[in-house]
Amino acid sequence: MAGHRSMNHHAPASETISLLAPAKINLALHVTGRRDDGYHFIESLVAFTAFGDRIDVSPDSEDHFTMTGPFAAAVPADGANLVLKARDALRTRFPGHATPVEIRLEKNLPIASGIGGGSSDAAATLIALNRLWGLGLDMPALNEIGLALGADVPMCLHGQHSRSPLIARGIGEALDALRRFPRLPIVLANDGTGLSTPQVFQALARRDNPPLPSPPEFATIEAVCSYLKQTRNDLYAASLTLAPALSHMLDLFTETGASFARMSGSGATCFAVFPDNAAAEAAAAFIKQRHPQWFAVATETRS
Ligand code: ATP
Repeated sequence: MAGHRSMNHHAPASETISLLAPAKINLALHVTGRRDDGYHFIESLVAFTAFGDRIDVSPDSEDHFTMTGPFAAAVPADGANLVLKARDALRTRFPGHATPVEIRLEKNLPIASGIGGGSSDAAATLIALNRLWGLGLDMPALNEIGLALGADVPMCLHGQHSRSPLIARGIGEALDALRRFPRLPIVLANDGTGLSTPQVFQALARRDNPPLPSPPEFATIEAVCSYLKQTRNDLYAASLTLAPALSHMLDLFTETGASFARMSGSGATCFAVFPDNAAAEAAAAFIKQRHPQWFAVATETRS
């Protein structure tokens, strides 16, 4: 590990480091096989949004962890929280550097909903503490620590580092950045359903589906949408058996005139792509009006 310590981001002792922990959207998700240990091989086109959780980290005289935001009550506030798992993973490796910290998490992303909130929080925490504690860990070293926290943490670390969409392969850890990609106006919606990712994978009827078609130049929103129409979310049928109401979210997107709509990850959050931000705002407002209890936000992908 010591050999990887090349970046040198020493933070002044009083500095607060604030990071967005964006939602992760699986624009396409193909399940192409399964490893002997039960992990699934995937091929996924992944983007990150301008909307997400917020992580603030600052030095303190002792450790503190506080949560605010609409979904704070739904996540563990103890060592089971991925934020604290990330903190403790670094502290175990670098006890001499890991001085007490206050960490604040603003939980804006729905839980267990296929948009990787927990993984994104873990990635943001690793990046923030790497900086605050002056650990100087480079991306391969952070990825190794992140992968031990969850298969989606490396892609979220990539999202922190470069923001750009990517193609993930392997169990989600082999990443290829897509340097050219338009900003997609997006709406995220969830009717309150959470789905357990392991349960969805267990419910899969097939695990040997065809891979992603090779990606073209993603020059325009239309080019992205026409590529997406040749792709799938192979988890959708399994998620639908566990949460039949999922299809209503997609039907509603059709009513709002979305260019493309699909479930993200193992669900139940669905996303829709719109031709412009005004159309996305109008669609989110329409959904909120029809279903005030739903989570629905207009945002855009980062690039
Ligand atoms: P993915 O798309 O990677 O499958 P997800 O959006 O389905 O992720 P998460 O919201 O990341 O799922 O939560 C998965 C589980 O992790 C939940 O059971 C939750 O209790 C737990 N968890 C621990 N810490 C966090 C956190 N900071 N935010 C969200 N969930 C957390």
